[in-house]
Amino acid sequence: MPEAPKPRETTFLLILDACRRDYLTPENAPFLHGLMERGLTASIESPPGFTQRTTMFTGTYPDTSNAFSAFGYDPENSPFKWVGKLGPVARAYQPRKVMYPMRMAVKRISRWASGQYHTDPAWIPGPYLPAFSVVEDHKPIFEENAMPLTGIFDLLRAQGRTFKYLAHPISGNDDEIHKMVLDTFRQREDHAFVFAQFSNLDEGAHHKGPLVPEGFVPAKTQTDADRAFMAKEIREIDRKCREIHQTLAENYQTFHFLAIGDHGMAPVMEKVNVLKMVESLPLKAGRDYTLFLNSTIANAWFHTEKAEREIRALFTDKPYGRIIEAEERRQRRIPLDRRYGDLLFAADPGVLFWPDYFHVVEHDIKGMHGYLEKGIHGDEPPRAGQETWGAETTGVLCMDSPLARERKDLGLRNLVDVFPTLCALAGVDVPGHNEGRSFLEGPGLALA
Ligand SMILES: [Zn+2]
Repeated sequence: MPEAPKPRETTFLLILDACRRDYLTPENAPFLHGLMERGLTASIESPPGFTQRTTMFTGTYPDTSNAFSAFGYDPENSPFKWVGKLGPVARAYQPRKVMYPMRMAVKRISRWASGQYHTDPAWIPGPYLPAFSVVEDHKPIFEENAMPLTGIFDLLRAQGRTFKYLAHPISGNDDEIHKMVLDTFRQREDHAFVFAQFSNLDEGAHHKGPLVPEGFVPAKTQTDADRAFMAKEIREIDRKCREIHQTLAENYQTFHFLAIGDHGMAPVMEKVNVLKMVESLPLKAGRDYTLFLNSTIANAWFHTEKAEREIRALFTDKPYGRIIEAEERRQRRIPLDRRYGDLLFAADPGVLFWPDYFHVVEHDIKGMHGYLEKGIHGDEPPRAGQETWGAETTGVLCMDSPLARERKDLGLRNLVDVFPTLCALAGVDVPGHNEGRSFLEGPGLALA
C-alpha cells in the first residue's frame, strides 16, 4: 500500500501527570533532559485546586472559570440526590474497600436516575454525597460546551480543523495511550492538534512517594524499593517520549512537541484524620454541616450557626493546617463561590488530610499535590535540607519546535500559559478571557 503523504504540520501536547522538574536527570530521563538542554524549558506551577485541564485548555485561573475541584456543592442538581432518601443505609456508606460494589451501584443508579454522564461518587461518605455535583468531567472535556469558557477544542472546531484526544476517559492506561499515539502518527493522520496524557508518574508517586533528589527529605514511609520503582517509571516515560518524538520526525513535515509535567508532588510526612475530628463534634453530619475532603484542602458548608462555631474553632490554631480567609482566597484566585465551601482549611505542605474522598483508607498514600505552598522561592524550587520538608515543587516544560530554535529556560511559568501557546501554534486568535502568556512570546522567540 502506498504511504499517505506527510502532513504539513501538527502540534502534539503530552501531559506527564505529576512529573516534577527534578525527575528529569540525565540518568533517568536522557531524552527529555536532552530536550531541556536544547529546546524551550520552564518550571511549571499549577494554579490552586484540582482542575488542571480547564486551566490548560481555556487559559484561565479557577476564579475566572469557576472550576476548582472535581466536585462542587450543588444539592439541587446532584446526581446523588436519591442517596439522601435512603436514611441509615446511606449513612453507613463510608470510604472502605469492602464498599466497592456499593460504590459501583451508586454510580450506575445515579447515572440512570439523573441522566448525567459522569456519576462516579469517588469515596464521598453517604451523609455528604447527596450535596455534590461533578464539576470538570460532567461530559468529555473536548465536547461542545464541556468547559465553562471557549477552549482550544472549540476554537479548532470553529475553523473546521480536527484534533485527537487521547487521555481519560478514552483510556487511563499509559501503554494503551502510547500505542494509540504511535498509530496516529504512523498512519500520518492530519490533525492540527493531538493531546495525550501519561498517568503513571502521578499514580506511582501517590502510592510510592515522589523520587526526591539526594539531600531532599523523602516521604516518611518511602522504602528503597519505592525509590527504585519510581526511577524505573521515569525511565519508561522517557523511553515512550523518545519513541513518539522519533515517529513524529519520520512522518510529519513540521511538528511541535510539548511534554509538560502539569504539577509537582510532595512527599507525605504526616496524616491527619480530619473526617474523624469533624465527625466527633456534637453535630449531625449532612444536617448541621457538609464536609468535602480533597487530600490537601478541606471544604466545609454550614447549615447551622452552631456548626460554623464548632468547626471554625476546631480548625483554628492547628500545627498542620490553617483556615484560608476570604481575602487570601481572593488573592490566590480560588473562587469565592459557595460551591467550594463556606470555609476552606488548607493542609501545610507534607500533611495529608485523611481519608480524602479519592482514596480508600486501606491504601498508604506517600505522595500528594495540591498544596497552596509549593516550596518555590522567587522562581527557584527548594534546594535541600529542612526547607524541603513536604515541598511539592514544580512540574516542567520540555518543548521542541522550529519556532523555538534556541535553547531557553523561561523560569517559573504557570499552567495557564499552555492555552495561548496552543492558540499560537494553531494560528487561531486568543480569546479575550485568556489570562496566560504564550511560551513563544518574548525576546529571541519571534513567531514565524
Ligand atoms: Zn494526582
